[in-house]
Amino acid sequence: MTTTLFTDLACAQHQPPEGHPERPARLEAVWQALNGPAFAGLDRRKPREASDDAFALVHPPAYVEAIVNAAPNTGLVQIDGDTFMSPGSLAAARKATGAVLDAVDLVMTAGGTNAFCAVRPPGHHAEPNRPMGFCLFNSIAIAARYAQQEFGVERVAVVDFDVHHGNGTQAAFWDEPNLFYASTHQMPLYPGTGAASERGANGQNICNAPLRPGAGSAPFRAAIEQTILPAVRRFRPDLVLVSAGFDAHARDPLANLTLQTEDFGWVTRQLMDVAHECCDGRLASVLEGGYDLQALGDSVVAHVSELMSQAG
Ligand SMILES: [Zn+2]
Repeated sequence: MTTTLFTDLACAQHQPPEGHPERPARLEAVWQALNGPAFAGLDRRKPREASDDAFALVHPPAYVEAIVNAAPNTGLVQIDGDTFMSPGSLAAARKATGAVLDAVDLVMTAGGTNAFCAVRPPGHHAEPNRPMGFCLFNSIAIAARYAQQEFGVERVAVVDFDVHHGNGTQAAFWDEPNLFYASTHQMPLYPGTGAASERGANGQNICNAPLRPGAGSAPFRAAIEQTILPAVRRFRPDLVLVSAGFDAHARDPLANLTLQTEDFGWVTRQLMDVAHECCDGRLASVLEGGYDLQALGDSVVAHVSELMSQAG
């Protein structure tokens, strides 16, 4: 009957080069924001480290091996245009994915519980065969497959309100009618995918609601209410996972969707309503983007407060 926070110091040891937006200070801002008395009731846990076999639920073994082997002992390795590995990156990535696996274990076995994973590196841009956009392994896609394999869950929905389209999750789910991916995101913007016409191999398991730059709260809420939520309800998930990126906030330097802090509380409440309706409130959320530290902290407060009020 509670909300669990999975996080780990190791996730701050993934250190891209100086000046990179996806920096350890993001996690410190989240920890600081969740430090107040309002969050005394959070059940705080350290996650497991995901194994190579867990990564291989989405990524081919050769890819897993290549990323594991790329991890440097000193200095930095660049593995994509804007994706780097430092000596702490692999341990951080194992904890990041492990957190979402632990969150699935928890919400599948403990009634009335939801979870937020405050972890990095993020994951939704990582395609099965390609690291991208600050992401090494696609934690949320891995967790969806894990839920199917470990708990016999049939249908898993991922809803992604990060300002960027989660091309990696979409690619992983494209051919799988029992895995559903829905996203609101700014378009045009990195990575360029996410048109409304991209609907998955069966035409029904991918739902994209792109928004124009500067769109703001009203079009965002309309997209959630009129496009995303009806599609999730039609899919009837047994488990809802959330790619919680907070870079659609007006203060964020990487995009300009101009959402307000309250929008993140609002969307969280909508998603919990759907989870209660479809699957006894089984919902786990994982941090993706969010690059203005003040906006990130405030938005996480709005998100987690709503999770806590909806647990049970
Ligand atoms: Zn993003």
